[in-house]
Amino acid sequence: MSSEIRTGIIYDDRYLLHETGMHPEKKERLNAIMSFLEKKGVLEKLERVEPRKASVEEIEYAHTRKYIEEVENYCAKGYNALDLDTLICTQSYDTALLAAGGSITAVDKVMKDELDHVFAFVRPPGHHAEPSRGMGFCLFNNAAIAAYHAMKAYNLERILIYDWDVHHGNGTQLMLYHDPRALYLSTHQSPAYPGTGSIEEIGAGKGEGYTVNVPLSGGTSNKDLETILREILVPICDEYKPQLVMVSAGHDAHENDPLAGMALTSQGYGMMAGIMKEIADEHCDGKIVLLLEGGYNLNALSESVFNVLNTLAGWDMEPEGKPGDDHVRDSTWSRINTVKDKLKEYWPVLVK
Ligand SMILES: [Zn+2]
Repeated sequence: MSSEIRTGIIYDDRYLLHETGMHPEKKERLNAIMSFLEKKGVLEKLERVEPRKASVEEIEYAHTRKYIEEVENYCAKGYNALDLDTLICTQSYDTALLAAGGSITAVDKVMKDELDHVFAFVRPPGHHAEPSRGMGFCLFNNAAIAAYHAMKAYNLERILIYDWDVHHGNGTQLMLYHDPRALYLSTHQSPAYPGTGSIEEIGAGKGEGYTVNVPLSGGTSNKDLETILREILVPICDEYKPQLVMVSAGHDAHENDPLAGMALTSQGYGMMAGIMKEIADEHCDGKIVLLLEGGYNLNALSESVFNVLNTLAGWDMEPEGKPGDDHVRDSTWSRINTVKDKLKEYWPVLVK
């Protein structure tokens, strides 16, 4: 049996057709990632997977038909925005279908065991998009649609979605709030956009206990986040035993990101990828799907995406960026304890 790790990426020039001009969520983000990977000489080590468009029926896993038609019509009519910060152009509807479809393709490649990991460089991003409205640069919720696809096509009953974007994934949380087939865990800056994601939001009905929010103050570092993941996410997964690990991979918790105030370095993303890999290797034969969300400093984004792939694929190349300091703040420990207190009823493993 070959122990070779198979890591792939999803990229398509058509993702550049969602034109947003000078907006931070712009096509240059993908250009920067692809040219950096090329410069590092790693593109040939990665299987390049072609995305397909999602069907309207697949988008309907997570959105109302009325909203989907609204997006289609607004784009066709040449409107330039869904709200103040969510820009669109005539090509945005098709590009958003391709982003959701690329996310579905990523799940298929991993679930069919054709690849171990797929990082889908999709845009527009998705985690803020709610059932009947787009917001926060997001049109269709790629992560929720891909998770529902995994449930429907492969009968999965336990999917981990870790949302490491610096912003809370209000849309993903809302869509999966009542569903124990997805465990949604978010670490995000608070207070910050979009204002959701308090510790009190833990899911409801059958999904109670399957939403875990860890709001964090500005300045949160690699070591803070590593400690949170080891104290909360890893033990919960030991009990939940995910059949697929998904990451809403926003790279805007980086210290150089212009839209947020966290203190991760590029190496912090390699660290988080390493923990995802440990979880996936332990519980689901290494199956990991990452979907690009935010990340607006092009250099920070490119470096940290490289570090994620370097860790997952096991290239053992020198990581980009700085290691970050080794200190865990007191406020991080108190946040960890508050989250454990809130969730221990559902996850006894959190009580030591
Ligand atoms: Zn974000």
